[in-house]
Amino acid sequence: MMRSFGLYIHIPFCRAKCPYCDFYSVPFQDDLADRYTEAVLRAIHCAADSELPLDSIYFGGGTPVLMGAERLLAMYDAAKKKFSVTADCEITLEANPAAMTLEDLCKLRQGGFNRISIGVQSAVDEQLKTLGRLHSAAQARESVELCRIAGFDNISVDLMLATPGQTEDSIRTFCHTFCPVVEHISAYLLKVEEGTPFGRRHMERFCPDEERSADLYLCAVNELKQQGFEQYEISNFAKDGKYSRHNTRYWDCSEYLGIGPAAHSFWNGERRYFERDLEAFLSAENPWTLWQFDDKGGDFFEYAMLRLRLSAGLIFSDCAERYPGVDLSFLRQQAEQLVKHDLVFIDENHIALTVKGFLVSNSVIWNLLEQYD
Ligand code: SF4
Repeated sequence: MMRSFGLYIHIPFCRAKCPYCDFYSVPFQDDLADRYTEAVLRAIHCAADSELPLDSIYFGGGTPVLMGAERLLAMYDAAKKKFSVTADCEITLEANPAAMTLEDLCKLRQGGFNRISIGVQSAVDEQLKTLGRLHSAAQARESVELCRIAGFDNISVDLMLATPGQTEDSIRTFCHTFCPVVEHISAYLLKVEEGTPFGRRHMERFCPDEERSADLYLCAVNELKQQGFEQYEISNFAKDGKYSRHNTRYWDCSEYLGIGPAAHSFWNGERRYFERDLEAFLSAENPWTLWQFDDKGGDFFEYAMLRLRLSAGLIFSDCAERYPGVDLSFLRQQAEQLVKHDLVFIDENHIALTVKGFLVSNSVIWNLLEQYD
């Protein structure tokens, strides 16, 4: 398999903070956005050279689309000058329905961006309001149309599961609205994080309990399947094989460089990150002096944990190539009981979790790997 790497650029700005969100972002300001663009350009310029081809770039956040086309294209151009960007490089932009213009989308598409991921979350206005989102369901639908008009043919939308008031019907409404018009859907369960307004208000009291959350997840999986979406990861679904190349890199334990406060990297066998400190990042002459070492990464245990999130699971021939010294016989033994309970599938080529296994993925994966040392 040819090695390549991905580039993640964190854009730490949002119009307003959603009450459940734990991602690092501050309110958008024009002058900060200019300074931030300069800092990212410095970071790209000062980054270590790499011989590997760069085949995915992901602008995440925050709300990257708020930066406007000129700033985003300047960052992309800098990446093209610095690295060997492949001709088919996947270039994703995260966007919010309330924050995009057709003019910017057209410029970005013409400039080479080829994938867009929109934070829709729900197709029911009342639920969007509860989540503190600034857009309506109608605006979300329009935003997909705008992307299409601008020429994007790889559009993803997010669906949030297990939110207050969510029912099977609201999931069906979402799927019927968006499945016919997008190529990819990410369906994540809401997690009420400490330190967020939702956490302080103990919103978990109003969220579906574990059993109901499982029902809602299964409803989404079934609905998406019926609409022609293949589940390729616990929370990710695609039509026509349009998997997210960049995110698949995370689950395949392959290398990526993350730029910006709160951005993580897996680089030369090490996990590294930048602190959640915008001011420090803006003022650093060479932002890489702020790059923190987290841990060694990429051993078999970590690889297996990540790969088992994918429907393709752990492929034995890939393991043998990547970890020639690892004896996998313990897996078959561990899998026996799990297969009986329809949580795991195993054959001579691979081992993978079933949809039922995905529901309790943490404990199933732990169970499978606990005998590995
Ligand atoms: S727009 Fe996205 S990143 Fe920004 S606060 Fe809301 S959920 Fe978080």
